[in-house]
Amino acid sequence: LLQLYGPLNFLGFVYREIKHALADMDRMFALMGRNAEITDAATAQPLATQAAAVRFDRVEFAYDPERQILHGVDFTIPAGHTLAVVGASGAGKSTLSRLLYRFYDVTRGGIQINGKDIRELQQHTLREHIGIVPQDTVLFNDTIYYNIAYGKPDASREAIIEAARSAHIHDFIAALPQGYDTVVGERGLKLSGGEKQRVAIARTILKNPPILIFDEATSALDSKTEKAIQAELKAISANRTTLVIAHRLSTVVDADEILVMEGGRVVERGTHRELLDANAVYARMWALQASEEAV
Ligand code: ATP
Repeated sequence: LLQLYGPLNFLGFVYREIKHALADMDRMFALMGRNAEITDAATAQPLATQAAAVRFDRVEFAYDPERQILHGVDFTIPAGHTLAVVGASGAGKSTLSRLLYRFYDVTRGGIQINGKDIRELQQHTLREHIGIVPQDTVLFNDTIYYNIAYGKPDASREAIIEAARSAHIHDFIAALPQGYDTVVGERGLKLSGGEKQRVAIARTILKNPPILIFDEATSALDSKTEKAIQAELKAISANRTTLVIAHRLSTVVDADEILVMEGGRVVERGTHRELLDANAVYARMWALQASEEAV
């Protein structure tokens, strides 16, 4: 056994180093603000708007040419409105947010903001306009302060605390022995899913973008945290063009429009009321989830 100890210990070391390197790579790309494969066209224009209408114009997409993922996805989110996307795992919901942030380019069709194709925009200005609250926020191995400020590196301490208050994470932070200087992430204090999502919300509030993407956590948070996060989301999405990738139907009830996706296609669309009245796919999902929650 002792003979095994050395190699196993070494493997643990390698694993930690790789994980750290991956986090750093993620950070590097984030700092560069772009995917290595996507570059600005020579004629790329800056985006500068406070009110952004988002249009997906018959979008086709494949990560790999052999396997088409999106088939003619078409929708508009008027400035300040909220669109929620629901559908089974693998339907292509998160792919929509990756395309809007331009991690990938569409294979056919286009995505426009205020009528301008995002491939004709300078990437860093596109990304300045979009705030993402991901399913599972990866925090940097750095202080909570840094992790919130990352949304806007030149923000004042007051603005950071204000954002943390709005995201209802300030009291939690203030109660830590080292407060905002507490190191979090893999090598520091591990935060719960709800706490991490609140840090991401604070970061987004600070960034104050006109477009918001909220990728709801698939793993259930406890119901109190979940309700609180939904309320915070509702507050920050007011007046912003919002795309919600929803896993719980309770999140979508108030959306201006709901898209139901199946196998990369939009199979139904409408408001919650309209979709219940249509008594088809969405209505069945709703009935199923209601019965699961009743258990
Ligand atoms: P979930 O609800 O589970 O998050 P989703 O509807 O958001 O699912 P997507 O993440 O958009 O689904 O994935 C749609 C399809 O694209 C899936 O079949 C998935 O396997 C595939 N896919 C996602 N990311 C990649 C990638 N980086 N490379 C290749 N295929 C991918």
